[in-house]
Amino acid sequence: MKDHPATLPVPARVRGYAHAAAELPAYLVDLADLRAHVRTIRAALPERVQLWYAAKANSEAPVLRALAELVDGVEVSSGGELRHVRAVLPSTPLAFSGPGKTPAELVAGLVAGVARFHVESEHELRLLAHAAALTGRTAQVLLRVNLPVPLGTVVLAMGGRPSPFGLDPAGVAACRTVLAGTPALRLRGLHVHLASGLDAADQLALAEQTLAWAVSWAGAASWAGELPGVDAGPLEVNLGGGMAVDYRRPEQRFDWPAYGAGLARLAAAHPGTVLRIEPGRSVAAYCGWYLTRVLDVKHSHGTAFAVLAGGTHHLRTPAAKGHDQPCAVLPVPDWPWPWQRPAAQAEPVTLVGQLCTPKDVLARAVLVDRIRAGDVVAFGLAGGYGWNISHHDFLMHPPPAFHYLP
Ligand SMILES: *Cc1c(COP(=O)(O)O)cnc(C)c1O
Repeated sequence: MKDHPATLPVPARVRGYAHAAAELPAYLVDLADLRAHVRTIRAALPERVQLWYAAKANSEAPVLRALAELVDGVEVSSGGELRHVRAVLPSTPLAFSGPGKTPAELVAGLVAGVARFHVESEHELRLLAHAAALTGRTAQVLLRVNLPVPLGTVVLAMGGRPSPFGLDPAGVAACRTVLAGTPALRLRGLHVHLASGLDAADQLALAEQTLAWAVSWAGAASWAGELPGVDAGPLEVNLGGGMAVDYRRPEQRFDWPAYGAGLARLAAAHPGTVLRIEPGRSVAAYCGWYLTRVLDVKHSHGTAFAVLAGGTHHLRTPAAKGHDQPCAVLPVPDWPWPWQRPAAQAEPVTLVGQLCTPKDVLARAVLVDRIRAGDVVAFGLAGGYGWNISHHDFLMHPPPAFHYLP
């Protein structure tokens, strides 16, 4: 493990909050930063590409409200997310994804007016037909397909190999029978979310192969012609999310301008299509902070440890992804005790939480100028897959505070 300096730049408004905060640990979300970031993404995308937000990255109500006017829709991946997002955003278009949708969830989706169902299997398509008959509603369908695409340098691959997600191409063909017999199912196109952590070049390569497959499939299926259950609308291709967030180099963000330019070329090459993306992490990560206080600093057999309030039960992201969460130390001059402040200086320090497990590590071998008990540590890139993927109840420590900068 190489040492890396704790040099994450911390914006003034985040510092300001950290120093004034009555309660730490706290999650802080800078909503203005979030909106500005999404506007940048939107501006980089061609007009014809729709931007949807994958709610599972961060479904907190203020985050959803900040995003509502800036995205074309929100993708939900469970009945719970469906209920929650619909309650927070009564009129935003929703797409319903995820494996193992239950009959009750499909009915709830139809009643809630879900704009697109991302169907994961033939059985699920039949359940959706049943739910449509029960509710008297029509379901707009994208078939999720697991394409045999070579994925190169992928961090987390969900497709192109055996996977619980989506249909094999042969399964897509089998769904035609169900679609043919069910006028209440309207096939709109395909959904392809194959991988996470791809840079712009890899995303474009994947998009190009996906589109080529989709267009040729739609041609073979006589799109908008002979295939029953197909509306005369354009072929929709949802290219999924998975745009990389580089936790080792936070300043290197996903190259949206290059990706947007590439998508513009692909869109021009396939004029009859509607393209859609649904990123989560790359939208939400940067605006969120996890702020906490150093409780103790000690040396164990030559290695320095800072024990922080909270830990991976609040922010499981580094444990889940196996990275060091980028951070900075914010010095606090006050020290209330009459003895010397525990400290480490100009050395690598491992930042751990309060859990009784060696896995409770937020960042390893962080090279600090100085870290003392009572200082504050600001962890960045904590806006996506943070609190909501963490095991909150393990050891029964109190939850963090939540604060949203408007
Ligand atoms: C998780 C997920 C996303 C978002 O992925 P990110 O890596 O957060 O961009 C998009 N679509 C589907 C179907 C997902 O499951």
